[in-house]
Amino acid sequence: MPVAESKATACQLLIGGKWQDSKATSFSNVSNPSTGEVIARVPMCGTSEIDLAVQAAQKAFIDWSETPVVERARVMFRFKALLDANYEDIAKIVTREHGKTLAEAKASVQRGMEVVEFACGIPSLMMGESLENIARNVDCETMRHPLGVCAGITPFNFPAMVPLWMYPIAITCGNTFVLKPSEKVPMSSMAIAKLLLEAGLPEGVLNIVHGGKDAVDALLEHPLVKAVSFVGSTQIAKYIYEKGTMNGKRVQAAGGAKNHIIIMPDADMEQTVHALQASAFGCAGERCMAGSLAVPVGDAADMLMPKLAEAARGMKVGRTDMGGSVDMGPVISADHLAKVKSMIDKGVAEGADAVVDGRSVKVADAPNGYFLGPTILDQVKPQSTVVREEIFGPVLSVVRVNTVEDAIELGKQCPFGNGAVMFTSSGRAAREFKHRFNAGMIGINVGVPAPMAWFPFTGWNASFFGDLHIQGKEGIQFYTQQKMTMTRWFGSSGKKGFHDPIWKAKS
Ligand code: NAD
Repeated sequence: MPVAESKATACQLLIGGKWQDSKATSFSNVSNPSTGEVIARVPMCGTSEIDLAVQAAQKAFIDWSETPVVERARVMFRFKALLDANYEDIAKIVTREHGKTLAEAKASVQRGMEVVEFACGIPSLMMGESLENIARNVDCETMRHPLGVCAGITPFNFPAMVPLWMYPIAITCGNTFVLKPSEKVPMSSMAIAKLLLEAGLPEGVLNIVHGGKDAVDALLEHPLVKAVSFVGSTQIAKYIYEKGTMNGKRVQAAGGAKNHIIIMPDADMEQTVHALQASAFGCAGERCMAGSLAVPVGDAADMLMPKLAEAARGMKVGRTDMGGSVDMGPVISADHLAKVKSMIDKGVAEGADAVVDGRSVKVADAPNGYFLGPTILDQVKPQSTVVREEIFGPVLSVVRVNTVEDAIELGKQCPFGNGAVMFTSSGRAAREFKHRFNAGMIGINVGVPAPMAWFPFTGWNASFFGDLHIQGKEGIQFYTQQKMTMTRWFGSSGKKGFHDPIWKAKS
């Protein structure tokens, strides 16, 4: 249905603590990927509405940054309790607008809630350092100060979790925040923000705007925005980093990925098949940490491939919005479905053998959903397009190699550097791989080594632009600036210090 004709409700903006209709004249549709039905419309905000949100955040910053950090953390404790009570409902919204299974949605909300738990500890984590007598009578200390208004721009693939990577840490550190969720999945963020307001967050501390490039550019150009957190594709991450830093902002920008999974002949094949299947096809492959390139070494391919193909063929693909149990839901949109299919076509044209081919999968009770079955491309050549580019769908490419050195070398050719995994029972191979592989997040017998909230999301190469990564202590460093104070009180101590008669009398 053309955008203008949709009768679906338009998403509201959250500005200064009030939900309000946008004055935008153009809208984008939010669809249920299981059915293709339009479930909401998203206003495409321009400069003036972004300015309203940033001004509201700037106004709120004055009091919020002076609110004791323990009180800010207490809002997070109440927020966490509300998330616990409402987490099934949030997961259902994630499933409806994104299409992942309810079990996957719940797990992703859980991961986001762990960031809120982490933020509850910020009073301890935000502490500075001090050292007495760095020179005679001189003490030195550092303190962490919030930056001001921070902005977050997020992708479609984790509608609840990725925004939660950002604003709980930012606001508990004393900043205020403007979130621009993906225009494809704005509803989860709105539902979660309602809980945060219910938890007692003062008005203007978290604001939500909607839109695409114009809204993002307005945030990147706004002089009051001090820091920008971005998660999305590499092309846009690079753009955000360059434009944001050029405008004097701190930027952390996480991009796309091509995660290699190396399988050694001594791996536990049953466990490996299970983990590889979940890594490649979980969330329909729409994960930045999805295992999208399997690299079996030597005889491993012969042991792995028949079992892996059987497991992939056995997966039930279907609609996720009606409860029921399916293993894999749809991809996000009709356009994305066409893109993923065209990448499979390209892989085959460049010589791959589609040993499991999901291109013709149909779901009887959801003929308009964006479905694709698990797909395995075997005998892929190292220089193929499907090895170099991110597909972001349920497609596993397999490059067979002879040695561990070949596998490590293949990693060096990869432009990305998010995650890499080795399945093995050899400590020596695992150590060599861990030390030398060209990626920032390593799994040993772990299919998806996505770090939990207490650790940073340490992508390398074209998977990350910036210095301080998202989550963990680096998240706190990103959202704060240090102030160093050096103090000397004349005559306060030391051999020649006690000139004051009152002190002399006491001594
Ligand atoms: P995307 O880059 O298309 O969009 C991300 C955000 O950028 C959205 O909010 C969108 O509105 C905005 N945007 C889109 N085009 C823009 C433009 N021209 N100028 C300014 N802003 C623009 O990404 P997506 O398709 O929503 O998400 C999938 C991508 O995200 C994949 O590449 C995936 O690997 C990546 N991702 C990375 C991580 C990570 O931690 N590295 C995590 C999740 C997703």
